[in-house]
Amino acid sequence: MSKVIVIGGGAAGMMASYAAGMCGHEVILLEKNEKLGKKIYITGKGRCNFTNACEPEDFLKNVVSNDKFLYSSLYTFSPQQMMDFIEEFGTPIKVERGNRAFPVSDHASDITKALKKAMDSVGVEVKLYEEVDHILTKDNVVCGVAMKDQTTYPCNHVILATGGNSYQTTGSNGAGYEMARKLQMKVKEVHPALVPMETKEEDIFSLQGLSLKNVSLKISDGKRTYFDSFGEMLFTHFGISGPLVLSASSYVTDLLGKKDLKAYIDFKPALSYDKLEQRILRFVKDHPKNKMISLLKDMLPHKVADVFLQRLEISGEKNLSDLTKEERTELIGMLKGFELSIKKTRGFKEAIVTKGGISVKEINPSTMEAKNIKGLSVCGEVLDVDALTGGFNLQIAFSTGYLAGISID
Ligand SMILES: Cc1cc2nc3c(=O)[nH]c(=O)nc-3n(C[C@H](O)[C@H](O)[C@H](O)COP(=O)(O)OP(=O)(O)OC[C@H]3O[C@@H](n4cnc5c(N)ncnc54)[C@H](O)[C@@H]3O)c2cc1C
Repeated sequence: MSKVIVIGGGAAGMMASYAAGMCGHEVILLEKNEKLGKKIYITGKGRCNFTNACEPEDFLKNVVSNDKFLYSSLYTFSPQQMMDFIEEFGTPIKVERGNRAFPVSDHASDITKALKKAMDSVGVEVKLYEEVDHILTKDNVVCGVAMKDQTTYPCNHVILATGGNSYQTTGSNGAGYEMARKLQMKVKEVHPALVPMETKEEDIFSLQGLSLKNVSLKISDGKRTYFDSFGEMLFTHFGISGPLVLSASSYVTDLLGKKDLKAYIDFKPALSYDKLEQRILRFVKDHPKNKMISLLKDMLPHKVADVFLQRLEISGEKNLSDLTKEERTELIGMLKGFELSIKKTRGFKEAIVTKGGISVKEINPSTMEAKNIKGLSVCGEVLDVDALTGGFNLQIAFSTGYLAGISID
């Protein structure tokens, strides 16, 4: 039996504590906040989309960074096992559109309650207001943790579960990266992910609040396409947001500042260039006396029509019968690829996850143990793993936490 200290009482740390306790170890969970799972309370807009009820293979397709690393943990503790676990510890669950799993109550706190109940059932000792400063080792073997207030806790195993760098008010402030660096572990540069993006063009700021459904978004530097998908997006006072944009950010956040990235919105993804041209010609034929603005308003949200006119430098009052072929071609190009230059993403304050973190090369994926420090395991968002929205990030925390907990000698 080992004496185990878990650093961080978020999703990963609570699950790791339970799993280690279940295996008969003496577990102390140290959390610096006044309560456990502060981030869980704000997940899924307060409803906590705690997993995605899909098969591990489909799950891995939604992982953006280091999917292969997660193979063992996901097969050891799958989304199905997570759903069973939550129900076993008293919280009924439901599965909604896109396989997103929530508590029936729609209260994120019920997920934390189930985790707390599980930890209580195996005798985990939780200590709140306890902020760890660094991990103590002797000859690369863990021997305890040192607290900010200079006190120490001796132990023979530490599970590091301090989370990423986003939404720091919930407690995850990147402290785990420093703890790892002190032990000579490699930490990959961190970037905000699942986050809105700022654009250089200001003409779209007037579209603030407008959401678009059934559009395509492509992000490219002219040579390579980094993201190309279909869905919903939103204009804001600084640029673009919404589900499609958040997903895109995860694929390009580490390239911004290094590459000149442009976003292209396809307002009519279901229509080819030719079909679109035919549609325009038909409209012109049917409404020969109409003005340019009426054509645009027929095809686009009204506010967007104004931005199009400015960009095309065509008066809305122009007679459709006077529309030249060049103007028509330019319009179709803009409908199929409305261009925006990406300035940067918003910051960690608004990022749902952190891309980057403790390098997965430092960690044995079958046990979550550090390869070079005996008695140290790492789990959750502090690792260089991240996924799309849909319950995937919490499941990663639960699966890696569970594997870390059951793998202790
Ligand atoms: C607004 C928002 C909504 C989200 N919604 C969803 C969703 O619906 N579904 C989903 O799958 N994912 C969602 N996520 C992502 C998900 O919440 C995280 O990926 C997940 O919580 C990571 O779990 P973790 O345990 O690794 O880290 P965290 O949950 O961040 O927990 C880390 C814990 O460690 C503690 N800690 C840090 N440093 C120390 C220290 N030095 N000493 C002691 N304790 C310390 C922190 O206080 C914190 O409690 C959302 C994230 C945000 C910000």
